[in-house]
Amino acid sequence: MYKYISVPQTQDNQSTQSIKAEIKSLLKKKNAILLSHVYQRMEIQDIADFVGDSFELSKIARNTPAEVIIFCGVHFMAETAKLLSPHKTVLLPEENAGCPMADMINPCDVEELRKTHPNTPVMCYVNSSLAVKAESDYCCTSSNAVEIARRINSNKIIFIPDKCLGYWVQKNLPEKEIILFNAFCPTHYQINAQRIKEIKQELPQVFTLAHPECERSILELANYIGSTSQMYKFAQEDKHETFLVLSELGLVERMSRNIKGKFFCTPYPSPICPNMKLNTLESVLECLKKDKYEIRIPEYGVKNGLFERAENTVNNMFEILSYNF
Ligand code: SF4
Repeated sequence: MYKYISVPQTQDNQSTQSIKAEIKSLLKKKNAILLSHVYQRMEIQDIADFVGDSFELSKIARNTPAEVIIFCGVHFMAETAKLLSPHKTVLLPEENAGCPMADMINPCDVEELRKTHPNTPVMCYVNSSLAVKAESDYCCTSSNAVEIARRINSNKIIFIPDKCLGYWVQKNLPEKEIILFNAFCPTHYQINAQRIKEIKQELPQVFTLAHPECERSILELANYIGSTSQMYKFAQEDKHETFLVLSELGLVERMSRNIKGKFFCTPYPSPICPNMKLNTLESVLECLKKDKYEIRIPEYGVKNGLFERAENTVNNMFEILSYNF
């Protein structure tokens, strides 16, 4: 079963309009910017200064002259923004907006992997905690994982935590050995291959786009695989008219609203990340009024070098991408 996603109707009554106006005025007053991941609710995307994937948002967080960053996403994203801009105030509207995939791995797991595979560089997906980043060598996002693995000067790489993205890297780089860890995104993992085969039979004209966090049997059924921004760009530029999008609903709603003359559907029920949807207009307003929830780097993290090591891991991503090969 599938569902066409029509242009989402965001709530826009007097009360939401007044919340939006108050948010805008507070953002200005506090010299703050609002960053929204594409999986956020549409009403948050509507008022954001920037909407993008984690790579785009991390670059904006690093370069913005704003003193305060309101990060509408999940915890690891706000934490990465803080890493890149330690002197800025970074606020996450919902304290409990975490990422189950990031929580599936801890620093001891990385230590074990290093013991089992000595002298092997560790590449971590940005969907990981500060402590895990500190134990890694290179960070990556879904849009640059293959390129970074290609550029790392080793034919064996430990990839953490997402086994699906790691599989995608391996598939693109058969000349390297990619060691995987058993973590995954529960939202993308719920997409069922049998259902996708049935949808493709029902809609033979459909062109399938998939996020590399989908399980490998899904990736094998996709016509194009890419990060959220890569899929968005592809759908804008490609000649096909109907797309089956295998990713979180927020992206599909955004495509449906902004890419005119094309049709977008998802498997039904549509994949929704409950953590991403925790942020609301009300919590954004509350966050601006009360400066909560501030992402802080614990004192011990600064003293024992954890912060610096995690920062190096993220900066190594930017550095390795800037080399011209
Ligand atoms: S969509 Fe998946 S990877 Fe992204 S925040 Fe939700 S659980 Fe984590």
